[in-house]
Amino acid sequence: MIHKKTWLSGITGLLIVMMGCQTEEAAEDELPEITAFTNLTLYDGTDAEPVDGVLVMEEGEITSAGEAGVVEPPEMAEVIDLDGAFVMPGLINAHGHVGVSEGLNHGEDYYTRDNILEDLNTYADYGVTTVISLGDFGFEGTEVRDEQYTEDLSRSRLYVSGPVVDGESPEEAVAQVEEAAENEVDWIKIRIDDQLGEGEKMEPEVYQAVIDAAEENGLEVAAHIVERDDATDVIEAGASVIAHSIRDTEVDYTVVRAMQENDICYIPTLTRELSTFVYAERPDFFDDPFFQRGVSSDLISELESEEVQQRFAESESGEYFKEQLPLAKENMETIHESAVDIVFGTDSGMPARFPGFFEHKELTMMEEAGMEPHDILYSATGGAAECMGLEGVGTFERGNSADFIVLEEDPFEDIENTRTIQQVWVAGNQLDID
Ligand SMILES: [Zn+2]
Repeated sequence: MIHKKTWLSGITGLLIVMMGCQTEEAAEDELPEITAFTNLTLYDGTDAEPVDGVLVMEEGEITSAGEAGVVEPPEMAEVIDLDGAFVMPGLINAHGHVGVSEGLNHGEDYYTRDNILEDLNTYADYGVTTVISLGDFGFEGTEVRDEQYTEDLSRSRLYVSGPVVDGESPEEAVAQVEEAAENEVDWIKIRIDDQLGEGEKMEPEVYQAVIDAAEENGLEVAAHIVERDDATDVIEAGASVIAHSIRDTEVDYTVVRAMQENDICYIPTLTRELSTFVYAERPDFFDDPFFQRGVSSDLISELESEEVQQRFAESESGEYFKEQLPLAKENMETIHESAVDIVFGTDSGMPARFPGFFEHKELTMMEEAGMEPHDILYSATGGAAECMGLEGVGTFERGNSADFIVLEEDPFEDIENTRTIQQVWVAGNQLDID
């Protein structure tokens, strides 16, 4: 359930024209600003193939998008020739985090408005124009979310779960759900994980109470799981989103059937696994300018220090997730082939899971796991919006926000071409991404 505020821009603009135009000149100033992008390949975020297209926006919203010749630039439009570039809706990360870490540190001290906004700017720089934060340190994010229904938006859009519900008894957990609902969160997040035997797994009677309380408050539940049977059980209890890969064992008929019957959104977060072990040695991407542009050189130095490498090399969970990653990929592909909605997400924003870069890495890992570029890009645009119930983003449907990216090369030919970002637009505003 997403709280969507009404777009007032159109109405306000009209009132200004009606009340304010004294002279012809003034009236002209108030004419709606229409922009038409031409000479481009257009993917609209649906299951349709890309076409030689035209995209038209007005006051921050898409007014039309489609095949050149069928869609014509309106006469009064400012025309921008994109010189054969590729245009698609901005990426949606359905499992991220904002303002929860700084460098390699993680904790509630970092949950400040400034850090939230900084992460949203970084995501946007990389073309990730919508982020669902599944697990926060408070409710500050709801305020940031409520500010985004403006014509001036110039960062990624945010939806939030608030803190992970982790009450030990049904009563305690239900009270947390109610607090989250009062604070108008978009999702409820729970975690069913014993951390490889180090912790206590949430009990079925607790998550059942959470799911029931969420439903009473018009909210849906996203579940962090590791193990297949926990996924089956929490889906049967009524959860809507599986927020990570099943990694302990192969998926079976029971869990796939449960996903199909309950319209589950399955978020693989393959880069989450990668982040648990990849820093044991210096990864090649440290030399990649696309990585470097979003990460400070101090932090890179810290990550390549012997001490940090040692820590990753000795991490038991790192070892486990490294071993299980191929299985997570296989499971994703089986689930995808079973017509369950794969939804794009990374679990980035946590320490050493870098917003922006990790999303592009995730896209390539999904391809390695066997998904086709079209399916991957759909899972990160229209598919994510539809499955997660986000309104106004993900496709170029008329009235949607003009949130899109301009790529130099075609990602349908090679998924890595999402990295050839030339422009990012949010609410019809071109961002300064350099
Ligand atoms: Zn997470």
